[in-house]
Amino acid sequence: MTSALQSRLAEADERIASAARAVGRDPASITRIVVTKFHPAALVDSLHELGVRDVGENRQQELTEKVGELHAYDDLRWHFIGQAQTKKARAIRAVATAVHSVDRAKLADALHAADPHGPALDVLVQVNLTDDPHRGGVAPDALETLATHILTLESLRLRGIMAVAPLDEAPGAAFARLASLAERLRAVAPDADQISAGMSHDFAEAIAHGATHLRIGSAITGERPHRG
Ligand SMILES: *Cc1c(COP(=O)(O)O)cnc(C)c1O
Repeated sequence: MTSALQSRLAEADERIASAARAVGRDPASITRIVVTKFHPAALVDSLHELGVRDVGENRQQELTEKVGELHAYDDLRWHFIGQAQTKKARAIRAVATAVHSVDRAKLADALHAADPHGPALDVLVQVNLTDDPHRGGVAPDALETLATHILTLESLRLRGIMAVAPLDEAPGAAFARLASLAERLRAVAPDADQISAGMSHDFAEAIAHGATHLRIGSAITGERPHRG
């Protein structure tokens, strides 16, 4: 199993490097997060053995359980990338290195209130690139308002912007819009220069449009087990 995993990881990293070089970017400026949702902690263990340090999870309970199982590793960085209920904010903050999916002031407030004087938590604003308001992410119109609010919360460090490409649009077009939203974000928060975008099927397009953090699941982990 590890050898298949190892070759998928190596292949993904090669594709990341060539996509970066194709647009004159340094591959070292890109963080590859392996999304391990639905997979057991043992997979994270195998990934760690292969040198992976950035992993992504989209559910608080699963995140908390895996961090508990793997607490011996103090060098893993856990990225929370899922929709979060406000009441889960405390549990997320307790273990996450970064939260990519902050899409409303209430969630930012809850993450801050969970540990207002603690070590700063890195957060990214998730924007909704679709026309469907039920999708995760703040509407592009409200980006600056949310970012300005987050900047008032001292225990949160606003690092950038995150999005998922819509299914019904070419990813390159969506990521081009994201790049311009990222520019708008930097106008109000100059240090927020991260762009979290790109999944298994669209990471090359994301790299071409400036992504700094890729969230790659199945291309590296193999097919996800089905949820019962
Ligand atoms: C699951 C997930 C990913 C990874 O998806 P793959 O298609 O398996 O690469 C990336 N981002 C988010 C927000 C996810 O939920």
